[in-house]
Amino acid sequence: MQVLRTQKYRLYPTAEQAEKLAEFARVVRFIYNLALEQRRDFWRQFKRATGKSLNYVSQGRQLTELRAENDWIAAVPANCQHSALQDLDKAFAKFWRGGGYPQFRKAGTHETFEVKAADTGTRPLNRKWSQVRVPKIGWIKYRDTRPISGDIRSTRVVCEGGKWFACIGVRTEHEASASALAAVGIDRGVTLALAMSDGNTATVPHSLVDLDKAARRAGRVLSRRKRGSARYRKQRSVLAATKTKATRVRRDWQHKATTAICRDYGTVVIEALNTKGMTRRAHEKGVAQKRGLNRSILNVGWGSIEMMLTYKLEERGGTLIKINPAYTSQTCSACGTIDKGSRESQARFVCTSCGHSENADINAAKNILRQGLPGVDGGGCAPVEARTIHPRLAA
Ligand SMILES: [Zn+2]
Repeated sequence: MQVLRTQKYRLYPTAEQAEKLAEFARVVRFIYNLALEQRRDFWRQFKRATGKSLNYVSQGRQLTELRAENDWIAAVPANCQHSALQDLDKAFAKFWRGGGYPQFRKAGTHETFEVKAADTGTRPLNRKWSQVRVPKIGWIKYRDTRPISGDIRSTRVVCEGGKWFACIGVRTEHEASASALAAVGIDRGVTLALAMSDGNTATVPHSLVDLDKAARRAGRVLSRRKRGSARYRKQRSVLAATKTKATRVRRDWQHKATTAICRDYGTVVIEALNTKGMTRRAHEKGVAQKRGLNRSILNVGWGSIEMMLTYKLEERGGTLIKINPAYTSQTCSACGTIDKGSRESQARFVCTSCGHSENADINAAKNILRQGLPGVDGGGCAPVEARTIHPRLAA
């Protein structure tokens, strides 16, 4: 089986190239918004007049006319604009399935366009630098941090926090899971970012904690600046740059952590994501500063981790199981006794019944695994201590 994945690189365009990238993004956004407006306001008239629906094909035909009449639209590769129309088709498909109505793309947030496989490609410059091709602009330099691992399907160019990136979509061969049967439970911990039932942990890098702090500080400074002033604008770009950097570091960490998990395990059990529950758990875990914990959850980006686990497991034919997290932090993973008092401290679990002592988050991860796979007596899930399961929980 083949899978699609995206490899992201920082672009270093020349001033002239950067100007063109911005112009391309602007025109593609205009096409997208125009097509959305047309679908929203004129779909009925169009159907009455032509007997057809407004979709990617009919709008693509109109795009050709638009390009013939407007030089500034024709100055941007047709394929990039067709991609935007396809994006809109996808957005509507999502809407028909019960999602939200497609939104207009905004300047500043949607600075992006896509180049299809036929029009893009990469070539190495030297050991550290390579170039990616964008039609009508040419070869743009990028920092080559890792080799392209398959056939290039597309290149999405995107501007985030004033910096340009190339998200290169590649098709690679499916990697079979090393141990499709092995299962692991994961707790979103307080003391450790991710605690696993096999005893492993994954903590967010310290640089990320610092970046988040810096971003909050920059936000506070911004709120004191006078709106629209030069100092306001300057501070706003400082804030944007810090946030972008934090996002990049976080995304990188999330990818590494989830890839490692999916390489080792075919079945992953996690707590069902529920913001209310999380706040409640903050209380349950005995954290004085609830605000602080909620922040640390934001730091980890549990939602993204769940999303990454979902698709990475799917790629490998694995499963993600979500359970109700009630009592997972108060239950002894060794004897099954549920007692609020079994928490010596925020970090340490000590069972009031059997005396079993363990890191509180890893203890919870073991309970999560057991709850996700009831009846599994350690048979398929190697890392669980199955020998001491209490009859009450094993049933
Ligand atoms: Zn116990």
